[in-house]
Amino acid sequence: MKTWASKTVLYDPELRSVMVRALYGTPLAIPIGMTIATIVIAACAAITGDAAFALLSAVMGCVGAFRFGTQVLYRRKQTSFSTAVFERLAYAGAWATALTMSCFGAYAVTAHADDRIVTLAVAQTIGYIAGIAGRNSSRPFITNVQVTFAALPFAGALIASQIPAFVVIAGALLMTVVLTISSSDVIHRVFLSNFRTTRDLKTIATTDSITSLLNRRGFIEEVEERLSSGRRTYLLSVDVDDFKTVNDTLGHDVGDALLSLVANRISSALEPGDRAARIGGDEFMIVTDRSSKDVAELAALVVSLFADPISVGKFTLSISVSIGLANATGESLERSLKHCDLALYKAKADGKNRWQSYVPQFSEAYDRRIELEHDLTKAIVEGQFDLHFQPIYSPRGRTILLCEALMRWKHPTRGSVSPAEFIPLAEQTGLIKSLGSFAIGQALKAAVSWPEPVGVSVNVSGKQFHRDHDLVGVIEDALRRTGVAPHRVTIEVTETTLAEDKEFVIATLHRIRALGVKVALDDFGTGYSSLSYFAELPIDMLKIDRAFVGSIATSTKARALMRAITGLAGDLNVPMIVEGVETPEQFEAVTRFAPYGVQGFLFARPMPKEDIDPIIDRRVALPAIDRPSTTVTKKGRSSAA
Ligand code: C2E
Ligand code: MG
Ligand code: MG
Repeated sequence: MKTWASKTVLYDPELRSVMVRALYGTPLAIPIGMTIATIVIAACAAITGDAAFALLSAVMGCVGAFRFGTQVLYRRKQTSFSTAVFERLAYAGAWATALTMSCFGAYAVTAHADDRIVTLAVAQTIGYIAGIAGRNSSRPFITNVQVTFAALPFAGALIASQIPAFVVIAGALLMTVVLTISSSDVIHRVFLSNFRTTRDLKTIATTDSITSLLNRRGFIEEVEERLSSGRRTYLLSVDVDDFKTVNDTLGHDVGDALLSLVANRISSALEPGDRAARIGGDEFMIVTDRSSKDVAELAALVVSLFADPISVGKFTLSISVSIGLANATGESLERSLKHCDLALYKAKADGKNRWQSYVPQFSEAYDRRIELEHDLTKAIVEGQFDLHFQPIYSPRGRTILLCEALMRWKHPTRGSVSPAEFIPLAEQTGLIKSLGSFAIGQALKAAVSWPEPVGVSVNVSGKQFHRDHDLVGVIEDALRRTGVAPHRVTIEVTETTLAEDKEFVIATLHRIRALGVKVALDDFGTGYSSLSYFAELPIDMLKIDRAFVGSIATSTKARALMRAITGLAGDLNVPMIVEGVETPEQFEAVTRFAPYGVQGFLFARPMPKEDIDPIIDRRVALPAIDRPSTTVTKKGRSSAA
């Protein structure tokens, strides 16, 4: 008994639950078997008129009702009973049946010489033992007690009758008991080994080898299981910001080691009821049954866990994660995962290192993106794009130094679509190459009519620096076709350009400069690693982002930063253009740093070529230098100070 008990203790919860499920796994066996047994004993009562049989029949009926009831309860799963309780209830029912059965057999043989009664008792008991051997033989504990209870009292009574045929039957019964007991142990071991092998294979198929978390398949199974059981389910999509840079610069071994440390940090935030997974690349997911408030706390906690740098071998890396959060409903897991993705996308777009909960507007924005993406191809063919130009003035000479070409999309139904919206789409779809080539061609064409030395600057996306795209050839071609002097042309690149293929980008920039074309670093001050890029990129000009200029008139911190950048640009001998000057106060504050050029709504907004042509060689009345007033563009396009 002790060995069985200790074996029972060794069962882990999953195994035990499977085994208990097997006990309740043949729903018809109990009502049918118990009804037959009750009827057989009742028949004996009817034949003999013996009240003891009637009593035994009633007991059998009650045991049957009890077993049927526990089975119904188990199948409904709406009970506070644990698996262990159901296991004990199954044992109790089975053993009570066996004992009642055996008492019936023993009593029939002892109290009645009627062959019909004895035949019924023998047939019933042997049938019952055979049934147990078949049904429960993978569970030695329950089987062995069951067959022993069922056979021993009955066999004892058969032997005590001293009728030779009965003694032979008793011998056969005891042999059956011995065989059942010895085979049930073997069957049980085979069952366990099969179970464990299957489970190991399943674990391998559902575990991520780098982090030991669930993999995509395991995660989907886990979420589906939770949803089907009606559990509250929230999904968090956790993405390592700029992981590609780590992989590209430090190699895949460091990347893998980092992923495993990221997994540890994520796991440290989990509680019972949460599961984490790595579903591919640097994408992790968490499923949780916490309340919406607690889920938000979990998301914030995971983001904050990455505030401290991570040591990977000899490297110390500062990384962050972005998180998208969505509620999962049983309707469509695919849709819930999509919601999570959209929330993550928003978290990334808002500057990374943050979490974002899904709201339906994200789906609307997504649908709009998809629609625009579809329209974009047609727009190029149908020529819905043109360029606007925004002048960049010299604060001293008050003349236009160059004009920045800014793309405009006149959508047939949506009106003017912002480049901030369609350029990323064009980048994603690869259309940026033809769109970018169009911009370069058109910008240079516009500059032909402008007087020397007024130049033109064109924004170039990082995606145009591709080994399979001849950007230098496109520029060369435009120069040749328009005849614009190369020194009048500037290409604007941003820090993110370097993220593409650093060596190739730098080599291409050198080739562009070799043509005589200038390179400006646009939106300076928005990236977090500006200074390192600044040193690496071969550039002729720096454009300070308008985010910097916003508070320049009011914030001493902004002025201190501007001073530092100006000092750096001066030391490196790189002229500076300040973007986004909107007020005379900003202009005044900015001029103290003696920039090479100023650009902003204060002087002029971007405008079509026909509007810029008449003012191209005019001096502008710059507010802080002359008087706070309007600029001299026509049609009132430019702003008043
Ligand atoms: P950017 O290159 O930094 O261009 C400057 C943006 O700031 C322009 O927005 C311009 O209209 C806006 N701006 C100028 N002065 C002010 C000001 O005083 N206040 C404010 N609030 N904004 C000002 P736009 O035209 O919407 O372009 C947005 C971005 O789209 C550009 O930023 C550039 O990165 C991209 N872009 C535009 N055209 C092209 C293109 O042909 N190719 C590529 N690759 N990107 C383009
Ligand atoms: Mg620009
Ligand atoms: Mg800019």
